[in-house]
Amino acid sequence: METLKYLLPEDRIPEAWYNIVPDLPRAPAPVLHPGTRQPVTPDDLLPLFPMGLIAQEASAEPWIEIPGEVREVYRQWRPSPLYRARRWEKALDTPAHIYYKYEGVSPAGSHKPNTAVPQAWYNKQEGTKRLATETGAGQWGSSLAMACAFFGLECKVFMVRVSYDQKPYRRALMEAYGAAVSPSPSTETESGRGILAAHPESTGSLGIAISEAVEVAAKDPETRYSLGSVLNHVLLHQTVVGLEALEQMEMAGEYPDVIVGCTGGGSNFSGLSFPFIGRKLQGKGNPRVVAVEPAACPSLTKGRFAYDFGDTAHLTPLVKMYTLGSTFVPPGFHAGGLRYHGMAPLVSHLLDLGLIEAIAVQQLDSFAAGVEFARAEGILPAPEANHAVAGVLREALRAKEEGVGRTILFNLCGHGHFDMQAYIDYNAGKLKNYEYPAEEIALALAGLPAGVT
Ligand SMILES: *Cc1c(COP(=O)(O)O)cnc(C)c1O
Repeated sequence: METLKYLLPEDRIPEAWYNIVPDLPRAPAPVLHPGTRQPVTPDDLLPLFPMGLIAQEASAEPWIEIPGEVREVYRQWRPSPLYRARRWEKALDTPAHIYYKYEGVSPAGSHKPNTAVPQAWYNKQEGTKRLATETGAGQWGSSLAMACAFFGLECKVFMVRVSYDQKPYRRALMEAYGAAVSPSPSTETESGRGILAAHPESTGSLGIAISEAVEVAAKDPETRYSLGSVLNHVLLHQTVVGLEALEQMEMAGEYPDVIVGCTGGGSNFSGLSFPFIGRKLQGKGNPRVVAVEPAACPSLTKGRFAYDFGDTAHLTPLVKMYTLGSTFVPPGFHAGGLRYHGMAPLVSHLLDLGLIEAIAVQQLDSFAAGVEFARAEGILPAPEANHAVAGVLREALRAKEEGVGRTILFNLCGHGHFDMQAYIDYNAGKLKNYEYPAEEIALALAGLPAGVT
């Protein structure tokens, strides 16, 4: 019988996260203080993050031990399964072998708990009482709310307005886990009130919601801030995905020629690909690595590689990344987790080094691919993950055209069970493609901080 599923025993959960930074041929640009424009110090970050995470953010160690209590929680759903998509391969009539690492098996339904759990744990160790955060589609908010519940922390979530209205079930899940949820922009912060004064109808953005959560954390000594993507320590925590996949591909007796992931802030993509890129840098294997982003928010394919703020109100440090400008508010397409103006500095740096590629796909193409995938494999992907599926589809069809066998591995980073309104709209023919918002992006890029390169 053909094998569909590659499972690792519980004791094969990785014991350490993999930090790609020391293996890179050139170090990434430093993070700068927004006032002095000098590299930030750990002390600058302490009001927002616990020292355990700040140390990881700047670490030069290739391996960072996963705390025992974190591994205990991981055990509930890790190691996650690796599947071979045999029925989808057949439906596509492609010679390619397609594998997917399925992160929808976590209780919150995505890869996000891989970092929510350690973030809550490190905060608990250092006496934090409450975490404030932002969420787009609600995947991150629900993951952090769950992790806070596990470790007895309070959780405050600013949820991007358009998702708050489109995805009421995610909000209900966060509240069930005990979190307090407000639509962003809200009237609870100066940043939110400022946006509402200028744009009373604002549908919000991750950049605005980040400003609100950072502001709350900065003003309260017992509250710290938590981010679900973008930062080095978040990408680090996600490497459990790729480390497991390395072993599982070995079980399958294959090695990927192409690795694909969708990119919002870059964490699920990095989690799967960094361990493979690390091996490539050490001369082992040579996969192409493809990031897939939405055409309506194309930071990697249309953005500028420059220092920018991580948020709209300019409260965060300056990071060098591919950005569309911190004031850019993307159109309200359904992949809420991909509506961020920037890309993780590490992913940006890897693109700049030529170690990865990036493509953009339209909303309708991503849903069409996701629905075909569901009909073949049974799992309905999250709208974000549909972008990865569309990227894989392209690669599989290219393999067919060229008549070559090729092994493709992708991150199926979450299921879409909380995103059914998006599928209702898609099935009713109500979803549309969005033009690349060139004018708004030009305007937002014109506002990039001057004098830093
Ligand atoms: C949050 C989210 C994303 C986007 O975030 P990344 O950091 O780019 O991974 C993608 N897919 C799912 C399912 C998400 O929840």
